[in-house]
Amino acid sequence: MKQNKCSFCEKPENRANILMHGINAFICDDCINRAYEILHAVEFNTKKNNRYKLPLANILKPAEIKSILDNYIIGQDDAKKYLSVAVYNHYKRILQPADDSDIEIEKSNVILVGETGTGKTLLAQTIAKILKVPFTIVDATVLTEAGYVGEDVESILSRLLQVADYDVAFAEIGIVFIDELDKIARKSDNPSITRDVSGEGVQQAMLKLLEGTVVNVPPQGGRKHPEQKFIQVNTKNILFICGGAFDGIEKKIANRLNTGAIGYGTINNKNKIDKNNLMQYVSHVDLKSYGLIPEIIGRLPVLACLQSLDRAALRRILTEPKNAIIKQYQKLFAIDKIKLEFDDEVLDYIVDKSIEFKLGARGLRSICENIMTDAMFEAPSKQEKKLRITLKYAEEKIGRLTVNKLHVA
Ligand code: ADP
Repeated sequence: MKQNKCSFCEKPENRANILMHGINAFICDDCINRAYEILHAVEFNTKKNNRYKLPLANILKPAEIKSILDNYIIGQDDAKKYLSVAVYNHYKRILQPADDSDIEIEKSNVILVGETGTGKTLLAQTIAKILKVPFTIVDATVLTEAGYVGEDVESILSRLLQVADYDVAFAEIGIVFIDELDKIARKSDNPSITRDVSGEGVQQAMLKLLEGTVVNVPPQGGRKHPEQKFIQVNTKNILFICGGAFDGIEKKIANRLNTGAIGYGTINNKNKIDKNNLMQYVSHVDLKSYGLIPEIIGRLPVLACLQSLDRAALRRILTEPKNAIIKQYQKLFAIDKIKLEFDDEVLDYIVDKSIEFKLGARGLRSICENIMTDAMFEAPSKQEKKLRITLKYAEEKIGRLTVNKLHVA
């Protein structure tokens, strides 16, 4: 008797586990499986490609980027503007189809200078969220030159790869925030032999990442290991945003402006210089005097400065941003169907305490946490559906606190 056969691989029915009958054809289980794998691979690749093509194809204009940043970050208009333009140009550059012209748009890596807690990380983080690209934060102080104790510079990219789920192409359009760049500025008086704290070696190692090359990245990060397999990552399209407080850079700025922090200057426009806020005049020259090597400075062409946050700004940070701290507590309580209210004077008190403890914006959260812990512990077991935080209540919770008890992340 004539046996039915798979119409795709001609396997006879008695050798197939399953042979599905169609109108004029048959298909065996092996061929069904193979077809499924092909379908799945195509679907996966399409999704994967869309994942990093879609957000870029719809790249926002600088003004649009800034207005989204406004929802999350209070003040810092200059920095927002510089960053929006840098990001816009960066992604325009990536999207630019290859052409024959000799004009190549260069990378616009950014350096943000400003006291700690003024929103540098928040800016970089928010940009990455808007663009839906992988984002990672690294602390420059843990990086050392190859051969010293610490992490190799390449480990920066390991983290980016991890965030991108090891999708190399996705990681290659990501954003890396390198915090505390000022801490690897060159200093002459560092005799350590185990750790390259003088920083120049790290700066040199970082150069190639910033400018864009193919880097062998250890998938697990940390120190390179001879037997480890590497993943090759091209940093050409990765946007690097560096941040640093650059403590004491005002002196360098003052010297350059020839105003002197105290005393009289000689330049004509000295009257126009606001000596109380010299940071706003920061330039690449000052970064060089501070100890960054010229090559690094050259690869961070966009320089923006963040202003220190005054009382009014801190007060706004508590309630205005989209995910303002106070809104977060209200949401937490709302989940238990409790309406949480803060008296205005409590908010002023939180700001005052943060200033008193010299914690800036970072302190707001820990002060709130200390005020709210008992309430968060007790309220869910109580019947009351409304909770009002008064000044007396807040003072009671904070009164005995010393700055050491405040945990500031
Ligand atoms: P930096 O990186 O400059 O040290 P961060 O961005 O980490 O500071 O800021 C710490 C926290 O303070 C943020 O998570 C945010 O809650 C708050 N914060 C700081 N600056 C601002 C700002 N300008 N607008 C809103 N929140 C801010």
